[in-house]
Amino acid sequence: MSLNQYPNLIELSDFQFPVYASAGTEQQAQSIAVRCRNAHEFLGSALEFEPQMNVLVLAPEHWNEYANFPVYGMPHYTDERTLAVAGQDNGFWRGMTPPAEVLPPEAAQAMKAAYGQPDGSINLSPFFDMLTVHELGHLFQFQAKCQFPRLWLAELFCNICLHANVVAREPEQLPALETFPQMVANLGVAELRYRSLEDFERLYIDVGAQNYGWYQCRFHVAAKRIYEAGGIEALQRLWKAFLQSDEKLSDEQLAARLREDAHPEIERVLTAWSV
Ligand SMILES: [Zn+2]
Repeated sequence: MSLNQYPNLIELSDFQFPVYASAGTEQQAQSIAVRCRNAHEFLGSALEFEPQMNVLVLAPEHWNEYANFPVYGMPHYTDERTLAVAGQDNGFWRGMTPPAEVLPPEAAQAMKAAYGQPDGSINLSPFFDMLTVHELGHLFQFQAKCQFPRLWLAELFCNICLHANVVAREPEQLPALETFPQMVANLGVAELRYRSLEDFERLYIDVGAQNYGWYQCRFHVAAKRIYEAGGIEALQRLWKAFLQSDEKLSDEQLAARLREDAHPEIERVLTAWSV
């Protein structure tokens, strides 16, 4: 990496990988980088691969310059080695919180318990901050040339990476990881334009931000179920099943492959998806 690739950012020096932050986000960048270091170590050992990793922690004024997702706040990769995440709370995260009065009382209570602030507001930043590890899962996938035969399966893989890492490295964060996706997955689907895995495959992020978020939440819920049924081995087997293979598989062939080479709960995401 050239020294002046990010001329307006500050380089944090305590890490063995490049970490750059906008002025004012250094403290948040430090904690994101520690999480990335721990997750890289945990997943590196589980998946027997060590991807390169650059981390950019950005304030809104640097987002357009260095990120390549239009909305400030969405963690993503900007190339196959680089993660870009927000360094502060933002309108995108706040906009993802449904008002308590539209939720069933139990769901409203769960959201308050997981994300409630002293002033009564809901703050989803602990959830969105953790998604950095999902994005790190993509770096593993790209650099090891793990060729998942479906986009949804790659997203599910990243969510299993994230879930496994939280269980292993920061179990106190499990309520923050699980509550929001479970709440979204439980909401009615009447207003969703797209609901099938075929639609997701065809349109991917073009299903729209809200609808994409719903798919991801279902993948989070599935990742939890898969991890609880199959442990780290389910993740390892899924990884090995598609490492450097680029076979074309029909849904039937894929279901059999997932059941036999990965875990039956992963097959169920495909065969029991419909809502
Ligand atoms: Zn992803």
